[in-house]
Amino acid sequence: MPEFRIGLGHDIHRFEEGRPLVLGGVKIDFPKGLAGHSDADALIHAIMDAMLGALALDDIGTHFPDTDPAYKGISSLELLKKVAILIKEKGYETVNIDSTIRTEKPKIMPHREKMKAKLAEALSLSPDRISIKAGTNEGMDSIGAGLAIECEAVVLLRKLTKS
Ligand code: MG
Repeated sequence: MPEFRIGLGHDIHRFEEGRPLVLGGVKIDFPKGLAGHSDADALIHAIMDAMLGALALDDIGTHFPDTDPAYKGISSLELLKKVAILIKEKGYETVNIDSTIRTEKPKIMPHREKMKAKLAEALSLSPDRISIKAGTNEGMDSIGAGLAIECEAVVLLRKLTKS
């Protein structure tokens, strides 16, 4: 029986004028971007926290502190690759990822396959093991008011068998 570990991730970033919008490693044409120290890719941040959480390796704030100038403006895809290496070093591989993006705008569906391809490449994982769902908050709270984007992710890891 292989050993499995499951992890949960969540992130929210507020919109900010004059920044590019990057989600799932894809630059989306939109009048506003997300505020943050890195490229503020809330989807990748949620996925990384889920991966780290599965192995009880704390969170991305511990691994990539926003006080460290090395991570200023960095592509979160680069951070995701580092987390993937860490997971492998600990003897695990990713089985699958499920995620949800909550935002009123922009529409996520037209970008979904490209996001999956970017994540799959960074994680050396087949795109059919990555799920990206999207929804609005029906006009309620900060997401509904269009002030922020919120993302959630669940990741399943499996212990690599020694060959
Ligand atoms: Mg974040």
